[in-house]
Amino acid sequence: MVSNAVPLPEGPIPPKQAGDAHHGVWTLLEQVADPEIPVVNLREMGILRDVRNGADGLEVVITPTYSGCPAMSQMFDDVVATLASAGVAARVLTQLAPAWSTDWMTTQARDKLRAYGIAPPLPSGCGVVTQVVQFALKKKASSLTETVACPQCGSQNTTEISHFGSTACKALYRCLNCQETFDYFKPY
Ligand SMILES: [Zn+2]
Repeated sequence: MVSNAVPLPEGPIPPKQAGDAHHGVWTLLEQVADPEIPVVNLREMGILRDVRNGADGLEVVITPTYSGCPAMSQMFDDVVATLASAGVAARVLTQLAPAWSTDWMTTQARDKLRAYGIAPPLPSGCGVVTQVVQFALKKKASSLTETVACPQCGSQNTTEISHFGSTACKALYRCLNCQETFDYFKPY
């Protein structure tokens, strides 16, 4: 499994420009979306990590979000099928290290999630302190703790109903301002 000589970039992958290496392949693979979040493509999710020249030809590198996530095998198949249908000969490699993080999601992905009705993940480093936030909201210390904003109305007066929402990677929240419930994509 330790076969990668070339270190992979960490963090969000910005959109590729016309002059960038393998621009056409990157653009092609932007057709592939996360099956659970069809509005966000694999590059924006931070799952598509690299397109590079390997020893045996072109290589496409993807990093799974959550190990055991059933959507990952479908994403892998979708990448292979998309390459094949465009006549691009490439090996698709799954790389587990460095591990994917919600911090790798691009700004566009977060905006699309919000528009889709899912609260995007807060930075994973700040910790999830939702219980504390309920109290902190009343105080001036709210700038120290980040809160999950409602994707419908933007209110930060929200509360967690269940730590597990429609999928294990999301939590179910309710907005106390507009009363809507929504999924929160948990930091990972
Ligand atoms: Zn709301």
